[in-house]
Amino acid sequence: MMKDDGELEALREKVRLVTADIVRDVHKRMDLAKQIGEIKGRLGIDVRDEKVEQEVRNNVLALADEIGMNQEFMLRLLNILLEESESLQALKRPQVQRQTHLGIFMKAKQLEAAGRKIIHMEVGEPDYPPPASVGVSLSDSFAQGKYHYTDTRGTTKLREAIAKQAKVRDEQLIVTPGGRFGVFSAIVSLMRAGQEIIVIEPAWPAYRECAEFAGVRTKVLRTRLEDKWEPDISHIEEMITPTTKMIVLNYPNNPTGKILDAKTMDRIVSLAKDNHLYLLSDEVYADYAFGRQFHSVLEYGYDKSIMISSFSKRYAMTGFRVGYAISNKEIISKMTRIQAIGITSVAEPMQFAALAALSKDHMENVKTMKSRLDFIATKLRKLSLDFVAPDGAMYVYPKVPNMDDMTLVERMLEKGVALAPGSGFGESYKQFVRISACQPETELTKGLDVMGSVIKERG
Ligand code: PLP
Repeated sequence: MMKDDGELEALREKVRLVTADIVRDVHKRMDLAKQIGEIKGRLGIDVRDEKVEQEVRNNVLALADEIGMNQEFMLRLLNILLEESESLQALKRPQVQRQTHLGIFMKAKQLEAAGRKIIHMEVGEPDYPPPASVGVSLSDSFAQGKYHYTDTRGTTKLREAIAKQAKVRDEQLIVTPGGRFGVFSAIVSLMRAGQEIIVIEPAWPAYRECAEFAGVRTKVLRTRLEDKWEPDISHIEEMITPTTKMIVLNYPNNPTGKILDAKTMDRIVSLAKDNHLYLLSDEVYADYAFGRQFHSVLEYGYDKSIMISSFSKRYAMTGFRVGYAISNKEIISKMTRIQAIGITSVAEPMQFAALAALSKDHMENVKTMKSRLDFIATKLRKLSLDFVAPDGAMYVYPKVPNMDDMTLVERMLEKGVALAPGSGFGESYKQFVRISACQPETELTKGLDVMGSVIKERG
């Protein structure tokens, strides 16, 4: 007994010393990172260098292998160090706040509050109303006492209706406060700090933001206008390491309007299966698919896929905050736990109103959106702008000649038109802007005329 006590204390002392050494070494590493950051700042180069990062990762993998350490654990630790070095280096940079469509929306709102008239071509919020029956249900909800906490996964009636429409079992779904929260709870509940997700850019910024919040590292696959926004699948394959746990898809895509063809989708699903990765497929724009047939991840029956959907875009119900996620039972229970901790349930009146929407035809909305996107495309062709005609969603993402996105966005805002800067969807898209088709053609005409004149002024 006495001998054990002595040995235990001796080992603990060794652990204290080793831990202190680790702390000192981490400090040394941070110091070096700071010095590297200063040089990068002087040279004006990006903080993040994927190639250098990959070399460090390979060294760690080889070392872990050599000394018999768990590779995944070592990579998670490394990712935490990389994340920290990156934020340290970014702090040293002059603060160029990345502007997103939401930032411009807020600015436009302030201008409106000061009495200015603004044409909103920045925001992805349909201008047409939800089905009339939604309004009726919302007012009925009070008389019918539909204002209580509900099951965290949603009311039985709404779940049953969604499950029937999506041809899935009730246990496979959760009603969420909008698609956004579905994305958040999927990432937060399935990923651990130091792991990695792969995001295909240009992308809705929330994926990266959710990952950052959870200490998860985002690896970016860039797509290009020149390739018609087609992702290079072999490149995704190269990006996968033992800590990569999720691929995020968003088709029809915000901001490009791209839809993947069946072959590409097949390859991505196979890749996810082969590497046991979660496949988070944000399909909030699935109804707005015109150019080519859209294939939902649900068609594949892959048990690690999570499909995100919403009432926001399909029925123009953005402010109701109702969406849903479909996956396997275990994943849904994990997401339910986050939702139970955070919000108890989606507001019952909103679920009641959403139920009324489900039986309504939304084809009129789809037709409206298609015709507006065609209209914008025709106008942009007349301005000789380079873009890929969208297969779906609610946006066009053209390249702007002779100026960066923020210059154009700010000029246009001065003239009463709000646009989303392209770099809000990925740092390397400073030459792009996103035009939203959530306005009537008369407003779009005025907005695009202003865009034409600003571009000419600079030309
Ligand atoms: N996913 C994408 C790709 C989006 O563009 C948006 C909103 O713009 C959402 C999800 C969020 O939608 P919701 O209103 O359902 O939260």
